Amino acid sequence: MSRVSITKQVMVTGGAGFLGSHLCDRLIGDGYEVICVDNFFSTSKDNIIHLMNNPRFELYRHDITFPLYMEVDEIFNLACPASPVHYQFDPVQTVKVNVHGAINMLGLAKRTKAKILQASTSEVYGDPAHHPQTEDYWGNVNPNGPRACYDEGKRCAETLFYDYHRQHGVNIRVARLFNTYGPRMAMNDGRVVSNFVVQALRNEPLSVYGSGDQTRSFCYVEDMIDGLVRLMRAPDDLSGPVNLGNPTEITIRNLAEAIIELTGSRSTVEEHPLPQDDPVRRCPDITRATDLLDWKPTATLERGLKPTIAYFDKLLKAG
Ligand code: UDP
Repeated sequence: MSRVSITKQVMVTGGAGFLGSHLCDRLIGDGYEVICVDNFFSTSKDNIIHLMNNPRFELYRHDITFPLYMEVDEIFNLACPASPVHYQFDPVQTVKVNVHGAINMLGLAKRTKAKILQASTSEVYGDPAHHPQTEDYWGNVNPNGPRACYDEGKRCAETLFYDYHRQHGVNIRVARLFNTYGPRMAMNDGRVVSNFVVQALRNEPLSVYGSGDQTRSFCYVEDMIDGLVRLMRAPDDLSGPVNLGNPTEITIRNLAEAIIELTGSRSTVEEHPLPQDDPVRRCPDITRATDLLDWKPTATLERGLKPTIAYFDKLLKAG
C-alpha cells in the first residue's frame, strides 16, 4: 500500500537507547518522521521523553526478534544491548536480537524496499591481531567465550545483510561502530566512560581493569550520529562495511587520569581483574569513511567529556 505522506518515514530500532535517542533527535531535526522501536530491555523512556509530543515522532514498544509490519522508507537497525554487562545478562536473547532481529528487519526492508543500515561493531574484530583495524581485516574472535553472543551475533548479522543484498537486492549499509560516549549513556551499564565519570564525581576510586595498558579510541556521540546519517545518505553503489570511530587511541589508565583531572576529583585509581577476552588494543582506520562519506570526528576527548560529565553530575544531584 502506498502512503500519501511525502515526508520520509525513518525507523530507528533501539531508538530509546543511548545512540538511538541521539539519532532520533537528529532525524527529527532534519525534518523526517521517526518511528522509534524499542523493547526497553536496556534503554530508558527518559532518553526520548522530550520527543513524545512531537507530531513527527512515534514510539512503538516492540521486540524485533518478532516480525514487524509497517511502511517505512529507511531503517536504522541499532537494537541490541551494547555493554558487556547488559549483553551478557541474557546471552541467548543477545544472539536472537542480532540474528532473528536482523532477519525480521531485513524482511521488512525487502517488502517495503526501504534502505537499511546495520549498526555493526568493532567487536567483529575481536582481540585484533591487525592494528589499526581496517574493514578488510576478518578479526580474531573467540566463538564460544562470554563476549561471543555479541561478537558472533553481530558478525552473523553482517552475513545476513550481505546475503539479503546479494540474494534479494536489499539496499544495505553496514557501519562498524567503535567505542562511543556522551550524555544518555546508562549509568549502570558498566562501560568505562560512564563508570569512571560516576566514580570520579563521587570521589570514589576509579576501577581500572587489569593494568590499564589496554587501549580504546573514544568517539563523541555527535560525531558518530553524523557518520551514521552520512552513511545512510551515501550513494547506493557503496560496497562493504565502513568503520566509524575516533582514531585517537588512549590507554584506559590515561582515560582515568583525564577524567579525574576534568572532574577535579579526589579519586585515585584502583586495579581490578581484567575480564576474559578483553581486547588489548582497539583503534579504527577511518580512511574509508573519510573517502566515501567525507567524515571524520571533530570532537576532542576534552570537548566530549565536558558535556558527558555535566550530564552525569546532573543525574547524581537529582538522586
Ligand atoms: N574498563 C575498565 N574499568 C571499568 C570498565 C571498563 O578498566 O570500570 C575497561 C575494560 O576492561 C575495557 C575498556 O575499559 O578494556 C573498555 O570497556 P567498555 O566496556 O567500555 O567497552 P568495550 O570493552 O566493549 O570496548
